[in-house]
Amino acid sequence: MSVKYVYTFSEGNGGMRELLGGKGANLAEMTNLGMPVPFGFTITTEACTRYYDDKETIAPEIKDEIFDYLTRLETTTGKQFGNPENPLLVSVRSGSRASMPGMMDTILNLGMNDLVVEGVAKLTNNPRFAYDSYRRFIQMFSDVVMELPKHNFEVIIDEMKEHRGIKQDTDFTADDLKEMVAKFKQYYRENKHSEFPSDPRDQLIEAVKAVFRSWDNPRAIYYRRMNDIPSTWGTAVNVQSMVFGNTGDDSGTGVAFTRNPATGEKKLYGEFLMNAQGEDVVAGIRTPQTIDQLKDVMPHAYDQFVEICGKLEAHYKDMQDMEFTIEHGNLFMLQTRNGKRTAAAALKIAVDLVEEGMITKEKAVLQVDPKQLDALLHPQFDVVKMKDAKPIGRALPASPGAAAGRVVFTAADAVEWKNRGEKVILVRLETSPEDIEGMHVSQGILTARGGMTSHAAVVARGMGTCCVSGCGDIKFSGKSFTLGGRVINEGDWISLDGTTGNIYGEAIPTVPASITGDFRKLMGWADEIRTLKVRTNADTPKDAKQAYEFGAEGIGLVRTEHMFFEGERIKAMREMIVSKTVEQRSKALAKLLPMQRSDFEGIYEAMQGFPVTIRYLDPPLHEFLPTEEADIKAIADEMGLTFDELKSVVVSLHESNPMMGHRGCRLAVSYPEIAEMQTRAVIEAALNVKRNHPDWDFVPEIMIPLVGELKELKYVKDIVVRVADELIAASGVNLKYMVGTMIEIPRAALLADEIATEAEFFSFGTNDLTQMTYGFSRDDAGAFLGAYYDKKIFEQDPFARLDQNGVGKLVAMAAKLGKQTRPDLKLGICGEHGGDPSSIEFCHNAGLTYVSCSPFRVPIARLAAAHAVLKAKK
Ligand code: PEP
Ligand code: MG
Repeated sequence: MSVKYVYTFSEGNGGMRELLGGKGANLAEMTNLGMPVPFGFTITTEACTRYYDDKETIAPEIKDEIFDYLTRLETTTGKQFGNPENPLLVSVRSGSRASMPGMMDTILNLGMNDLVVEGVAKLTNNPRFAYDSYRRFIQMFSDVVMELPKHNFEVIIDEMKEHRGIKQDTDFTADDLKEMVAKFKQYYRENKHSEFPSDPRDQLIEAVKAVFRSWDNPRAIYYRRMNDIPSTWGTAVNVQSMVFGNTGDDSGTGVAFTRNPATGEKKLYGEFLMNAQGEDVVAGIRTPQTIDQLKDVMPHAYDQFVEICGKLEAHYKDMQDMEFTIEHGNLFMLQTRNGKRTAAAALKIAVDLVEEGMITKEKAVLQVDPKQLDALLHPQFDVVKMKDAKPIGRALPASPGAAAGRVVFTAADAVEWKNRGEKVILVRLETSPEDIEGMHVSQGILTARGGMTSHAAVVARGMGTCCVSGCGDIKFSGKSFTLGGRVINEGDWISLDGTTGNIYGEAIPTVPASITGDFRKLMGWADEIRTLKVRTNADTPKDAKQAYEFGAEGIGLVRTEHMFFEGERIKAMREMIVSKTVEQRSKALAKLLPMQRSDFEGIYEAMQGFPVTIRYLDPPLHEFLPTEEADIKAIADEMGLTFDELKSVVVSLHESNPMMGHRGCRLAVSYPEIAEMQTRAVIEAALNVKRNHPDWDFVPEIMIPLVGELKELKYVKDIVVRVADELIAASGVNLKYMVGTMIEIPRAALLADEIATEAEFFSFGTNDLTQMTYGFSRDDAGAFLGAYYDKKIFEQDPFARLDQNGVGKLVAMAAKLGKQTRPDLKLGICGEHGGDPSSIEFCHNAGLTYVSCSPFRVPIARLAAAHAVLKAKK
């Protein structure tokens, strides 16, 4: 049977999201539920994939099928495409499997031309409406299909407004709009050197192609990378007969959520505009009314809408985000989907739905996206400091959280400043999808226009970025703005409170977040489900404490070289690195020993008896060698050398490939005294803590890095065992310890069965394992990975998301080989991937004991580990 590429809404259903996209599947589902959905059909995601396979053309048989369904639509609606007597107008909208709000394109009022518009004017007895619809169509079609930016048309509108002395779009008369259409078409002709396409069937095919193309526009690609959406999915296209919210004061359009998407409160939440089309609400050009006000404006439509909202939420068992239009008092549903929400709202809604008996705890756990928790784990404003802070303005609390940063005015500047290490707040008149990358890198977003469902608000909430929107008091002037009597220039610090909507003209300090209420409850449910343990990568007692509070069940990686980054400490570390003789090195090591010992004590204490894995020194030399003359001089003085003597040592230590250089266990092989000192610090600290807490049964895990050969592991392990056993014997305390290794060199993975004869545990160092498996330098890959995304060779950064096919194969193989030798071998991962949800799912399936990640990702990992169990069950 040949493939079917088009489905009417009544042929589909909610379970067909892969084929029909989310929007198409839900329109079909609402149709089947008997809700008022304008008729239409969906062109499948497979047609999109085929479009790309066919070198960006629509195959003749698919075109025929589309026209066949168009005829059916004409029959069902009793209207005809292009017929001025009884014209059919349609909307053409994208809809992929995963919702990508605002990332792709929509065209309304398609089917308009010079004859049809006259027909519409006559039929509706409303020429103003007819020409308003026509001018919108020209604008959208030119923008989406013909790449003539919408903005250019806005300039024409603004000129006309000024000329007529008009403020609002709604003040234009029919004649004004007619003139506007003529101006738009003239502008089109001048720029495209052809007439605006007037055949509705051509318009339709071109629009479908444009939606397919929009799947691959830069903002969609970026959004997909951020949200782990594969490029192979493609988008469906929904063609739906138009209903009009711009026919006059008994019509309107709006968007609403069944619960508050910012807080999760169980109360209908949304906005609408009378005499408008959908884009007006989302674009934030006019400020809408709240959904409650619809009750007074149109009680009948309001009651019907409330009833539908209840039914939809009960049906989907989740908070719904809906679009509707009212045409001459009649309500039509244009879309429903599980609504995007803030992390706080996600937790409240999930917990409430369980308590309302609507869903199980498992479902609730699955309903919260682990990555979203990030927003709750970041600092909030310091309450004490906030007391003295006076807001300079206030607007809509569009996306909660606290943000302080320096003002920038364009998305491109946000990216550039962020790359320079600055914290920025993006201040815009309004945002558009082109701004996505700039929004992503910003601490917070402030807009002068737009409501709670404006682009800025929706996208910021999805990202978990703080946003204050619709601050109409802001007056822009070049690269500065005034607010509350203050002039704020580019680069000035401001702070935003996305929960209250307050704007402050200063940097307000923040405090760390904590896990309470619904968050704690849901995490408890996740912990009951998951089997993977979650540890943390922490190098200081402070980080260890934070991680413990976030639920870490031990430490999977203490990078001991990181304990020496700060202040005076780096001097001793540098001294050790540049030492030429054993004496010099011993002197430097003697300085390092007490620092390490006391840090280890602090870390053991913070972990309260949970296991702690301490990785021996692994400093890529270039990160530690002194480069500043003053530093070299200070160290030379300390060591009793001349500047030139030390400088020549530094030069001799220069490596061409430091990541593959004298680091990891290679250092201990060259200088065994380093391993001796570290063992002393680990064991002495453990003995001290054990004396204070005899009931803590903790076993320090000593981890030897960058092992590729069994004999090098054995060489270092022998030193560890000799020193540790001597210290323990002399102490009279019963202390156990383990010696294991990182698997981060492909050779160690290949020979894991051999390595496990000496290693008592493995921890996968997937940062280095990725580096060495791909042969991509960790330091340099950023410079060329962009080209790999552009050329679609990579969809994800392999250093952020585990390459499951290649690097993952080594992990799975090493885990299996290791267990052959040592069935009780403990297996962990401590590369960056240990905090990435999809990589965590992989680790669960590969049978690892634990994942280890940075403190702020611990709750994310706990939830992701529960997701892994639930997904494996499905
Ligand atoms: C790793 O290589 O994955 C790892 C955790 O070690 P580092 O990042 O310190 O090299
Ligand atoms: Mg490493």
